[in-house]
Amino acid sequence: MTLIIERNSLKYYQFESFNQLGIKHGFFTRHGGVSPAPFNSLNMATTVGDTNENVIENLTWMFDCFGLDLSSRYDGWQVHSATTICVDRPRDVRSRTIRCDALLTDKADVTLVMRFGDCVPVLLYDRKLRIAGVYHAGWMGTVKKIGAAAVGNMTKVYGSDPANIIAGIGPSIGPDHFEVKQDVADQFIKAFPKVLDQIRADHPDKIMFNLWEANRLTLADAGVREIEVMEVCTVCNKQDWFSHRGDQGKTGRFGVLISMAE
Ligand SMILES: [Zn+2]
Repeated sequence: MTLIIERNSLKYYQFESFNQLGIKHGFFTRHGGVSPAPFNSLNMATTVGDTNENVIENLTWMFDCFGLDLSSRYDGWQVHSATTICVDRPRDVRSRTIRCDALLTDKADVTLVMRFGDCVPVLLYDRKLRIAGVYHAGWMGTVKKIGAAAVGNMTKVYGSDPANIIAGIGPSIGPDHFEVKQDVADQFIKAFPKVLDQIRADHPDKIMFNLWEANRLTLADAGVREIEVMEVCTVCNKQDWFSHRGDQGKTGRFGVLISMAE
């Protein structure tokens, strides 16, 4: 079940299932931050043209919702790869970010953070071994099956049993809006030959795919049994979420975080 929380001036979405396990997490709407248009207002990315000062202020407010200190953060440089990083300490903010699209940690003093604007955000949690994760699956990450890579690393690095992992798929471009050209369609056909009917979205004369279902199937195939999908389309709801397509590229990125802090 999805919960919508308003705290201070911020508004964010949560999975009740993660809350029940005591996991601090949120998918933050664009409301309540300090950035001006077209990044209004809770923009989390400096790569889109917003100032560093604004982004730091927005990040601080996001962390404040959970009583977390910004110095606990680990964030990467999201490049549409299937690369997973296992993190055991916060990022030294003087160091450069590492190219990766999935972050995992078994440390409660590390807060994992990623940025989105139509791509699929997915949270992971191993409730037995206490390992938190987040990954970024645009269409490229989806066809590269980053979900399988992230779960594979939870198994290999930490010894997770996928049956103990819960997953939550957050707000992103929905099947009603994710239209692609033939070259992209060909990559989906190659990556998901057996479940094409399930991931094609019905439309008589456009090629549409369902990224939520493609990511859900990838996780299920990796052995994850409890997968929740928020089913919130960022393009349909661009008043609430930064949407690259909805705003024709001139927009910000919204924040997603997860932490196992008490
Ligand atoms: Zn939509």
